[in-house]
Amino acid sequence: MFKMEPDSTTYDISNSSKDVSFPFCVGQCNLSLYKHFVSGEKNTEIQLIERLQTFGLLPKTILCLENKPTCKVMCKSARVVDRVQWICEGCKRKQPIRIGSFFYRLQCTMVQALQMILAWCEDADVHVAAEFFDVKPRVAVAIYDKLDELTASELSNTKLGGEDAVVLSEMYPDCLNRLSPDTTDQPHVHQILMMADTKHIPTHYRFHVMKNHLKKVSNSCNEESLQEEVENTLSSVTHGNSLVVSGNNIPIVDGTASIAQLVQHCDVEMQHFLSNRIWSQAITLCNASRDLCSGGPSLLCASTVQRYLDTSLYRLRYGDGFYEHMLKIIANKFTDKYEICKEE
Ligand SMILES: [Zn+2]
Repeated sequence: MFKMEPDSTTYDISNSSKDVSFPFCVGQCNLSLYKHFVSGEKNTEIQLIERLQTFGLLPKTILCLENKPTCKVMCKSARVVDRVQWICEGCKRKQPIRIGSFFYRLQCTMVQALQMILAWCEDADVHVAAEFFDVKPRVAVAIYDKLDELTASELSNTKLGGEDAVVLSEMYPDCLNRLSPDTTDQPHVHQILMMADTKHIPTHYRFHVMKNHLKKVSNSCNEESLQEEVENTLSSVTHGNSLVVSGNNIPIVDGTASIAQLVQHCDVEMQHFLSNRIWSQAITLCNASRDLCSGGPSLLCASTVQRYLDTSLYRLRYGDGFYEHMLKIIANKFTDKYEICKEE
């Protein structure tokens, strides 16, 4: 498939990939997939590209821009940063190997991009990872931003609950002193509506950072719009046929049951789980999100917190193996698929 010429400038990554060590913890599944992409002895760039194509992160074939009957685009080695490019045998037009993919116009090598995606999956600090992998901070931040956006859009496509499912809701930090003692000194800046789908193990959560308290409204309308925001969030995040249960710190919303009504039918252990333990992981994330609040409450701050919570809970949902999950999402969203007519 590939025609290679000996090239003394070929960068050998085989040594660095044998003993992989990172300035952050990496799960076994994530690490082995990463190694699968970058390991190899000879022609590592070619192997990398073949593996990325097989995985779906690069198109296996593309169309020539000229698109004449004589056009036939081939992969050829070239003195470019990726060592390989698309060249049309008919009209000689060249296109980057990264065209129609996540890597297109990214100002780092494809290996560096794979490294930054791995770092993001492992919740590594963006600046620590950028420095370690020698990626420009601006490029590293752009990759992290893209992944956070992907996560938010994936989450918005999924809903909690469904037929015969119970979705619990509770308000942070209002619930704190009852559920677990508040031991931090940081002020409670944001109210966060927490939602938990009891059907899944581990529990599927969703968070909504409330905007209501950010509006400087001091009249009695305030109560009403808080209730409205809760109502709108619950209906957009849950399937219509779920049983939605309001916690003790949630304003009463039409069509929901109260936690008191729910637990009266449960045994003591289940009662404890539904009213307390189910929230422990969610509260841990909400507590951690307080670090992101700089000064007073603002919408910008709220969206930073929202992004952190979305990404964190999505990461928790997939655990080790998250790297593969994210790369598949990237492949689906970014890689162009061309329908090539087979002419016999
Ligand atoms: Zn052509």
